[in-house]
Amino acid sequence: MIQITELNKYFGAHHVLKEINLTIDSGEVVVIIGPSGSGKSTLLRCMNYLEPIQSGQIMIENQPIGMIEQQGKIKEMPQKQLNLIREKVGMVFQNFNLFPHLTVEENITLSPLTLGKVNKQEANKVANELLLKVGLTDRAKAYPEQLSGGQKQRVAIARALAMRPHVMLFDEPTSALDPELVGEVLQVMKDLAKEGMTMVVVTHEMGFAREVADRVVVMDQGKIIEIDSPDIIFQHPSQKRTKEFLNKVL
Ligand code: ATP
Ligand code: MG
Repeated sequence: MIQITELNKYFGAHHVLKEINLTIDSGEVVVIIGPSGSGKSTLLRCMNYLEPIQSGQIMIENQPIGMIEQQGKIKEMPQKQLNLIREKVGMVFQNFNLFPHLTVEENITLSPLTLGKVNKQEANKVANELLLKVGLTDRAKAYPEQLSGGQKQRVAIARALAMRPHVMLFDEPTSALDPELVGEVLQVMKDLAKEGMTMVVVTHEMGFAREVADRVVVMDQGKIIEIDSPDIIFQHPSQKRTKEFLNKVL
């Protein structure tokens, strides 16, 4: 589903992703953990090319995203082509990023309608199905400011799903929430995983990683230092730095 090969990313002189190799299979749930500043968000943002990269390759369903080779030269791909590939990749951020002036339903239907994928009636039907899935059927006409953080994040998930993505990327989706609201968002994510959605999740929720992840990726200082099953990572990590990190967060 996603194939990352020898990816290097710099911010100016700062080498933030170093020789990243990572393959995410269809239907897999991969959780990325690691200390602050280790490059987790940047790696996730590279996966749908929200961040340009300096070398390496990222493929989404066997299509390169971002850079293409043309007459022997590596170039940025045309925006239209990039947008088409991005439709397959849904993203959910820490701070929801809902449009404050639009209702819940309008937030969810905006992209499908703008892209002319469906008519208004179909878009609303899909929105209502998705609101059922995230447990918010009664809030279709509400505005984001009328919702709790957990509800906003569930709307953000429904909005991403409205594009019928083939993979979902989550960057610390519960970090901005009051503790009592974390569970309802994790539950929606667990349900998605059960349905077979391919997911890449950056999170500090180690319980979720243990329970839901097929594999856990550990990052440190811009590198992947270890990839393994949650059982191995949490019980017998091979890297000293993984142990040190887990000792701090568990
Ligand atoms: P956190 O757990 O705090 O979210 P992270 O693992 O997600 O951390 P990143 O946000 O990917 O880490 O940042 C990796 C490195 O890149 C950090 O040193 C950060 O300061 C730097 N960085 C991130 N975004 C930018 C940017 N837009 N411009 C310059 N440097 C950046
Ligand atoms: Mg981050």
